Amino acid sequence: MSKTPPDDAIDYRAWSHRAADWGADYLDSLAERPVRPKVKPGAIAAQIGASPPDGGESMDAIFDDFERIIPGGMTHWQHPRFFAYFQSNAAPAAQIAEQLATAFAAQCMLWQTSPAATELEVKMVDWLRQAVGLPDTFQGTFQDTASSATLCAVLTMREKALGFTGNKEGLFGKKPLRIYASGRTHSSIDKALWIAGLGQDNLVKIPTLDGPLFPMDAAALRQAIAADRAAGMQPAGIVMCVGGTSVGATDNIAEVCAIAREEGLFTHLDAAWAGSAMICEEFRTLWTGAEHADSIVLNPHKWLGTPMECSLHLVRDPETLVRTMAIQPEYLKTHGKDGIVNFSEWSVQLGRRFRALKVWFLIRAYGLDGLRRRIRNHVTWAQSLAERLRGEADFEISTEPVLSLFSFRHTPDGIADLDAHNLALVNAINDDGRIYLTQSVHEGKTVIRFVAGQFDMAEEDIHIAFDAITEVARSLV
Ligand SMILES: *Cc1c(COP(=O)(O)O)cnc(C)c1O
Repeated sequence: MSKTPPDDAIDYRAWSHRAADWGADYLDSLAERPVRPKVKPGAIAAQIGASPPDGGESMDAIFDDFERIIPGGMTHWQHPRFFAYFQSNAAPAAQIAEQLATAFAAQCMLWQTSPAATELEVKMVDWLRQAVGLPDTFQGTFQDTASSATLCAVLTMREKALGFTGNKEGLFGKKPLRIYASGRTHSSIDKALWIAGLGQDNLVKIPTLDGPLFPMDAAALRQAIAADRAAGMQPAGIVMCVGGTSVGATDNIAEVCAIAREEGLFTHLDAAWAGSAMICEEFRTLWTGAEHADSIVLNPHKWLGTPMECSLHLVRDPETLVRTMAIQPEYLKTHGKDGIVNFSEWSVQLGRRFRALKVWFLIRAYGLDGLRRRIRNHVTWAQSLAERLRGEADFEISTEPVLSLFSFRHTPDGIADLDAHNLALVNAINDDGRIYLTQSVHEGKTVIRFVAGQFDMAEEDIHIAFDAITEVARSLV
């Protein structure tokens, strides 16, 4: 017996088809769009109604406004010539899975609230663990972002160091807990210490050695730990980094993990971007020793191809994580022992999306070989661009490629302020619209970052990048 639909029901089937057509046309048209929109601040807001409507509007009107207002105000992260920040990929097969996950509107907090979502998540975490070559001593979950995974790891460091009394008693009157990381780690580490109540001042930034990898100085790390103990503070953990955001800084993981073992410290490895490349065996030397880390995060939503949000958080001992994060009495903590996992006990958020579906579709549609081929191409093409720029007399490579990331400067004769010149250059390149780049500051100098990694990028896009960079640079002098 079919029931009468509510008055304001929309034709879900028709509009879903319309959205699918729109999405397909959009993806086809990307290469012709400027990567970054040419809009002034406030220009989009000025086109949106000042107050919410009391009555429902037609989907025709809504969709028309969407097409008229929104795409022209978007930065196109799926553009093949998006070479800024780190990529945010949404491979077509994974996008389809995301649409299906939305249809369920499933709240995947407990096994019983979505058994298939939980069991698929256990399997997909394990598929990815195998894909990046880590031993089966790791289990894990999909957190929303690397920031959340790192927060969970820092909270675990805190609770472990306090004998699991922090959640109950708070931190007042306790010895300061100290966490160590190189000065080149991501700001999400600093933020995790803020939120965990440990305080910015207790994140000890260890100096780094020279490039190309800029690893943390192990001798300085040992000294810092010893000095803190001598001063009556309590070392709690070390956050390591592989493929840092600015210039790809990469710690010596085996060496730092060995120090952590001697000192009894918990380790977390942030490989948010570079971790995806570990599906290629030849890149794994970058994180030799990763199997000794207590906690690892990598973002399939950056380089691998799943839409946001999908951060793989692997841990060697789920019990420590669950003891830190589960707000349930001990007798309800099952963490995998009897085959039932409640993933909300592994994370900050209670409610969680069905994240594993997009991983399943992605890996099956392209195969690990298809994903490896893309990552290898990105690395090869970025490195070829670095070589071409190095060959031009008026360019210098500022930091050598780490996988598909490098930085450069335009250094023509007769320019007094090269920092200002390179800042002007990155803005001019982005106004040109063919490619999108971002700048960074490295050792006090403004450098321009280049990172390749869009899912459907082609070799020709690298040639366009070379032309855009050199033409715009020379037009400025
Ligand atoms: C992108 C990035 C992060 C932050 O990732 P989110 O998933 O956006 O929280 C952390 N660390 C590194 C090295 C990154 O590249």
